[in-house]
Amino acid sequence: MIVMKFGGTSLKNAEMFRQSARIVLDEPREKIVVVSAMAGVTDQLVALIEKAKNGEDYSSAMAQLEKLHIDLIGDLFVKNDGELWEARASVESIFAGMKGKLGDIENSQPAYSSLRPFPFLSDSVLARGEELSSIIFSAVLRDLKNDFEKSIFISSAQIKTDENFGEAEIDLVATKHQLADLSGRLSQGVIPVVPGFIGTTVHGDVTTLGRNGSDYTAAALASIFGAAELQIWKDVDGVMQTDPKIVPKAKVLAEISYEEAMEMTYFGAKILHPKSVLPAIENKIPIRIKNTYRPKAIGTLISSEAKSADGLVKIITTISGLALINVVGRGMLGVSGIAARVFGATAKAGVNVMMISQASSEHSICFVVRQTDAEKAVQAMNQEFEMELQRHLLEKVDASGCLAIIAIVGDGMKGFPGTAAKFTSALAKAKVNIIAMAQGSSERNISILISSDETAKAVKSVYQTFFSKRKEKK
Ligand code: ADP
Ligand code: ASP
Ligand code: MG
Repeated sequence: MIVMKFGGTSLKNAEMFRQSARIVLDEPREKIVVVSAMAGVTDQLVALIEKAKNGEDYSSAMAQLEKLHIDLIGDLFVKNDGELWEARASVESIFAGMKGKLGDIENSQPAYSSLRPFPFLSDSVLARGEELSSIIFSAVLRDLKNDFEKSIFISSAQIKTDENFGEAEIDLVATKHQLADLSGRLSQGVIPVVPGFIGTTVHGDVTTLGRNGSDYTAAALASIFGAAELQIWKDVDGVMQTDPKIVPKAKVLAEISYEEAMEMTYFGAKILHPKSVLPAIENKIPIRIKNTYRPKAIGTLISSEAKSADGLVKIITTISGLALINVVGRGMLGVSGIAARVFGATAKAGVNVMMISQASSEHSICFVVRQTDAEKAVQAMNQEFEMELQRHLLEKVDASGCLAIIAIVGDGMKGFPGTAAKFTSALAKAKVNIIAMAQGSSERNISILISSDETAKAVKSVYQTFFSKRKEKK
């Protein structure tokens, strides 16, 4: 069997829903389908939650979102009243439920919120996007196949997660147990449609898996069922040398290794979600990125078989929305264990460190975190080094924001000299200031911290250096 995941970019409108459903029906193998919310819907849900939280009026934004789905259904089931009315009833009931949840967010008293932390409340709203698209997608499959029996809709209650609301982990064992009877049904030709990105705890509370988490749902299902392939359908021909929105002439990579995919996703390539690759890698499941708009194009294969030429840089990725935390002072000098304390404290605060760098003078240590975690990271440092700060052994802990990492990735970079020099001179040529630099111990990536607003300029220049020049020399 295979798992086929369709992202928001494949579900933009009625025609794309039909196109994605046709791709599913043309696939002869047994399959499970995973869908994201329609493009932009999760962002709109995030905005609704913000409005509710701030006591602003969210009713017209919610009505607009409901209309988007009602119109979609109207376009999809022009000649199928049965599906039309059933889907319409589901959409209306989902929006009625959502209204109640937004009301809870709006009215949540401090005492209630401490019993039920905010992500608990927001997850039950965020989950609605995938709930809607999965219900509609299964109806489209039934409509196109003219077969009411075959396609089934799996509720998210069957994807079991821990209680880390907003960033939950899938419990593979519990989910496998929950889905035990599904293999038999697949062999009878059933096509389950699973909403990505959402799950439930053992207590039945709704969780979400973190933004872009539908890939993670798909990879978890692929690993549970030992899939022969995990297909991820998007609006691009595959993994490209860099984001085609910045460099339109970027080429598609026919294959990349699991290691390259991991490095690439860690440094933000929007095309894959970091967590998603793990369950697939652990089970050596090949991942194929395909284009819903051009299903015949071969796509990119991510597997353990991918080869790489010496020195070859394959991908340029960027991640923005970062902040640099600086811990400065002579107290750092020669004191072993400072770095361990820094990372112990950030880990305890639940802050993910993206990159570290320590000056050779050992006078300061700096590390990069997501901008949204910056305040937490500074607090954690102030707490951890309270005594040193009081005694002026450390001068200060500060944070600077609006930063981005640009990284180059490739298996062939390992043990191949000169790549870093080329990378930095490409940035110098574009007059992009280097704030900090790090090479992963895998030697498969070099990452450089720059100002966010210089990202596009940086990517274009690095692309020119590593990809365009090579072509000119031929
Ligand atoms: P979906 O939500 O449908 O899964 P995403 O929007 O998450 O799709 O990912 C697709 C987008 O990723 C593309 O439209 C493209 O702009 C962007 N992207 C960023 N880096 C790359 C890359 N290296 N190769 C291909 N696409 C990339
Ligand atoms: N809809 C969710 C998001 O936009 C999950 C996903 O699309 O993968 O983050
Ligand atoms: Mg997405």
